[in-house]
Amino acid sequence: MKRVYDMVIIGGGPAGYAAALYAARAGLKTVVLEKLSAGGQMALTSQIDNYPGFEEGIDGFELAERMQRQAERFGAESQLAEVTALRLETAVKEIETSEGTFYGKTVVISTGAGPRELGVPGEKALVGRGVNYCAACDGMFYKGKTVVVVGGGNSAAADAMLLSRVAGRVILVHRRDTLRATKIYHEPLLNTPNVEFRWNSTVTELLHSGKVTGVKVRDVNSGEESVISCDGVFVSIGRAPATALVKGQLELDPSGYILADESTKTSIPGVFAVGDVRTKVLRQVVTAVADGAVAVHYAEEYLNSLW
Ligand SMILES: Cc1cc2nc3c(=O)[nH]c(=O)nc-3n(C[C@H](O)[C@H](O)[C@H](O)COP(=O)(O)OP(=O)(O)OC[C@H]3O[C@@H](n4cnc5c(N)ncnc54)[C@H](O)[C@@H]3O)c2cc1C
Repeated sequence: MKRVYDMVIIGGGPAGYAAALYAARAGLKTVVLEKLSAGGQMALTSQIDNYPGFEEGIDGFELAERMQRQAERFGAESQLAEVTALRLETAVKEIETSEGTFYGKTVVISTGAGPRELGVPGEKALVGRGVNYCAACDGMFYKGKTVVVVGGGNSAAADAMLLSRVAGRVILVHRRDTLRATKIYHEPLLNTPNVEFRWNSTVTELLHSGKVTGVKVRDVNSGEESVISCDGVFVSIGRAPATALVKGQLELDPSGYILADESTKTSIPGVFAVGDVRTKVLRQVVTAVADGAVAVHYAEEYLNSLW
C-alpha cells in the first residue's frame, strides 16, 4: 500500500519530534523517519541543564524518549528507517528509505549534524579502532588508558573533562594557545591533574598498527613535529550538517547548511528545514524545538493553499 502522509519528517532529534508533536496535534497524518533512535545529538549527553522546565537538568536520552512519546500520544508515527534518497520537486514528494518508499505532501528535514572529521589519512578506517567522535559513547573503552582529545571548544572541553574521570591520562591538542570553550570549563580543566595540554598544535597523522598507537602533531608556530603515544583519539572539532541527501536540490550555504530563515522555508515550497541543519545563529535544543513548531505553522499554510 502506498504510504502517503501530510508530513514526512526526516530525523527524530528534538527538532523532528517537536514538528511531529505540532503536526499531529494539528490533525496532520505524520511520520518521523529515524535511522538510529530518538534524540539525535541530544541523546549523547547525560545532562541537559539549559532546557527550560527541568530545574535539576535532564538526561538527553530521557528527554528524547519523552519527546517521542509525547508526539506519539497525538498520533504521530515513528519508523526506524534510513532515508537514502529524496525527490522533492514533485507535488507529492518521494522519500526513499531502507524500509521502502514514503510519500509526503510536505517534508521536514531535521537531519541535524554529525561530527566533523579531522581529515587525516586513515581516519575512516580507524573508526572503532582508536578513532572516536563521542566521549560519552566510547569513553568507557579507555579506562586507565591514555587518550588524546583534539579541539578547544565546548565539546572538546566537555569531552576532556568526561574522559579525565575514566582514562588515566588525557592530552588535549588545540591549534590555539588558549581554550575557545566558555569560561566555565577553563578552571576545572586546568586544575584536573590527569589532563595535559598541547597548545598551538594540530594532528597531522594517526599512527597505528591495526589500532591507534599515537598521533603525530605539528607545532603551528615552529612547524616542528612530534609524536604523542596514546590508545585512542577523540575528535571534538565541531559538527557538520547532515545535508548530503539534499545537496543539489535545496540551496545550501557555503558551510553546507540548508538556507532557511526563521520561517524554516527552504528553496522548494512544501519543504522545511528545522534544527541544527539550517542556517541559524544558535544550535541548541531550545532553538531546534522552536523550529519544529514554526515549520508546522507554515506547512499548514502551504497545505491549505493546495486545496
Ligand atoms: C555532546 C553534545 C551535548 C550537547 N548538549 C546540549 C545541551 O546541554 N543543551 C542544548 O540545548 N543543546 C545541546 N547540544 C546540542 C543539541 O543536542 C542540538 O542542538 C540538537 O540535538 C539539534 O537537534 P536536531 O533535531 O536539529 O538534530 P539532531 O539532534 O542532530 O538529530 C538529527 C537526527 O536525524 C537523524 N538522521 C540523520 N540523517 C538521517 C537519515 N538519512 N535518515 C534518517 N534519520 C536521519 C539522526 O540519526 C538524528 O537522530 C549538545 C550536542 C552534543 C553533540
